[in-house]
Amino acid sequence: MLAKTKGMILKQRGIGENDRMLTVLTSDFGVIEVSAKRAKSTKSPLSAATQLLAYSELCLFKGRQSYYILDSAECIHTFYPLRLDVVKLALAGYFCELSKTLSPSADTAWEFLRLLLNTLYLLQEGRLPDDLLKAIFELRALSAAGFMPNLVGCSECGRFEAEGLCFFPLDGILICESCGAGTPMWREDVLRIPLPPPVLSAMRHIIFSEPERMFRFQLTGNSLSRLCWVAQQYTLLHTEGNFKSLEVYQSMKLPASTDRKENFPELGEKQNKNDDT
Ligand SMILES: [Zn+2]
Repeated sequence: MLAKTKGMILKQRGIGENDRMLTVLTSDFGVIEVSAKRAKSTKSPLSAATQLLAYSELCLFKGRQSYYILDSAECIHTFYPLRLDVVKLALAGYFCELSKTLSPSADTAWEFLRLLLNTLYLLQEGRLPDDLLKAIFELRALSAAGFMPNLVGCSECGRFEAEGLCFFPLDGILICESCGAGTPMWREDVLRIPLPPPVLSAMRHIIFSEPERMFRFQLTGNSLSRLCWVAQQYTLLHTEGNFKSLEVYQSMKLPASTDRKENFPELGEKQNKNDDT
């Protein structure tokens, strides 16, 4: 049976002299494996459409195998400028690896693909800080994959705004200081992240806004660092992820944009008592 769909090449590996095996996020089937015969040759019409980060129209054949077979392909967009910047390329690789790990189902695949395409486009354009794009993609992708945190208000008293609201990444909930202090949730070995109002507002905006508005806000300095750190902790906790591409991105980032680790405990470390400003 032949089927047409559009998809982003998340991963490609060479098979033998001429062939490629692809991992593709498609708008109709979610994440699938595709065998692309003779796609490795630069003379092949399939070559450009099956390279990493290509967004292509694909004509696929599904036989008895677990994977699809590529019949023909046409490249719609290559994100070529990303290949000229190793840091952005590493971050794009992380977006692809996270997409593959979260593997959205067929019914959420289009929403997910649109998020990936928009994020890569903005990464290529460079109009927003790379780290901000990373946080937006992480929180929005996790939410689309069924891990939406509950940021409406304190999960105990329901208040939208309250003194000392903290985020509990493992449970994906907020608890305010007057509800939580003195309870087991406030123990030092429970990962609890104080969220200053600008960071909480940014997280709410990312998660609750319409797709066309999600990238329209600004955050800088310590608030941006905190947002990035929270989004990454939340992602790593809920994917049990060990993302090689994330390590590459972090090793390449300019020192000026690295997180201030002294303020942000690593996963599994005790909560820093003074980390509440
Ligand atoms: Zn409360």
